[in-house]
Amino acid sequence: MTTIADRLSIAQHRIAQAAQNAARNPSEIKLLAVSKTKPAADVITAYLAGQRCFGENYVQEGEAKVDELAPAFPDIEWHFIGPLQSNKSRIVAQKFAWLHTLDRIKLAKRLSEQRPVAMAPLNVLIQVNISQEDSKSGVKPEDVATLAAEVSALPGLCLRGLMAIPSPISETHGSDRLEQELATMKMLFDALRETHASVDTLSMGMSDDLELAITHGSTLVRIGTAIFGARSYTP
Ligand SMILES: *Cc1c(COP(=O)(O)O)cnc(C)c1O
Repeated sequence: MTTIADRLSIAQHRIAQAAQNAARNPSEIKLLAVSKTKPAADVITAYLAGQRCFGENYVQEGEAKVDELAPAFPDIEWHFIGPLQSNKSRIVAQKFAWLHTLDRIKLAKRLSEQRPVAMAPLNVLIQVNISQEDSKSGVKPEDVATLAAEVSALPGLCLRGLMAIPSPISETHGSDRLEQELATMKMLFDALRETHASVDTLSMGMSDDLELAITHGSTLVRIGTAIFGARSYTP
């Protein structure tokens, strides 16, 4: 049976190999372990194998895990990567280090006001609706610059870059649609870096498409299934 530690090591190897193939330095690429729906014990197992950054999708579940684990493991860096309703923003502002799904100025202002002054600013990524489907969240590519300018003026937030959930690789086989989306993200990211010195993070790539994402310049891959195994339920 493969353990979480084995799978973590395999994921690290995949990242290193993909970086090497793309002539990139593997240290430029951060691994975020997505622990949604998995028990705190699995987070501890991955922690003991050296993992420090964890991603959660659901506010209540994420809050419970942070509350349980933060006292004993204060060096875990918690990332919120799910859709965020305004009425739950305070929890993210108070308990997380990063938010990957910022998509509107109203939410940004609330988070900035709610971020405790004793904490470092909340690191935020603007989510881009790169597949341009109405059902998907995120801002349109042409609206990134405006939101970025507004966000970077807020004292409680630090604009770190962009995040995307592109079309699933399983649905794009035989077409270059996924690659086009990833390439567009890289272009938007490079443009944003030109105008904002704090920007250094391009969050794209999951268990199935991390190699392609790294080829296209990802600096942070979000890996759930390949580390913790299949998820048996959706809360
Ligand atoms: C669940 C999730 C992931 C991890 O997906 P896997 O395919 O399990 O690696 C990454 N990013 C987001 C936004 C997710 O919701």
